[in-house]
Amino acid sequence: MTFNELGLNARMVSRLDALGLTKPTPIQQEAIPQALHGRDILGIAQTGTGKTAAFGIPLVVSLSKRQERPAPHSARGLVLAPTRELAGQIVQSLQGMTADLRITLVVGGKSIHVQAEKLARGTDILVATPGRLIDLMDRRAIDLGRTRFLVLDEADQMLDIGFIHALRRIEPKLNRDRQTMMFSATMPKAMAELSRDYLTDPVRVEV
Ligand code: AMP
Repeated sequence: MTFNELGLNARMVSRLDALGLTKPTPIQQEAIPQALHGRDILGIAQTGTGKTAAFGIPLVVSLSKRQERPAPHSARGLVLAPTRELAGQIVQSLQGMTADLRITLVVGGKSIHVQAEKLARGTDILVATPGRLIDLMDRRAIDLGRTRFLVLDEADQMLDIGFIHALRRIEPKLNRDRQTMMFSATMPKAMAELSRDYLTDPVRVEV
């Protein structure tokens, strides 16, 4: 199995090759074609399985295909992650996959004013921790009504850290007409409930 066979174009395949990604991992083989078809994804996968590229590739491909500019104070795609460290790693991975999309990181511990200024121009992909995103929403620095691609990475960790309240507040602000990919290493009851709120008729992929 190659990335080419998963339906990716030559440009993306060669970018992935340059990153050392030549053969898709099992989660990538299962998730990428379904996500490219527009399906919601519930991925049960640990770190190290290649889950970042499993959501990153379809996110970048879908946003690149539609040649829209982000509106001010909006993000075309949103990735939520439990920690600053993971959010930073996701930004690095996404930047390796595209030079054409504006990718913005907003996490705690950095100036919220600088982040709000960056968001004023709009962004293609916003990578955020839930707490800081809520702060920016409360300041009206970001409007999620135009966000049509959403990823929740390490969703079980976000629940463990206590982001459930933030996640409950974020979901109703998002466009209902969106594609959502949720990844978690485990599937406790609270995760199942969260997935029902966020996902529509998801394909479940497990590795
Ligand atoms: P992740 O599970 O997303 O944290 O990825 C773990 C590591 O696997 C990262 O260093 C990736 O660069 C690497 N990786 C992801 N997909 C592939 C692939 N298809 N082939 C080789 N390495 C990969």
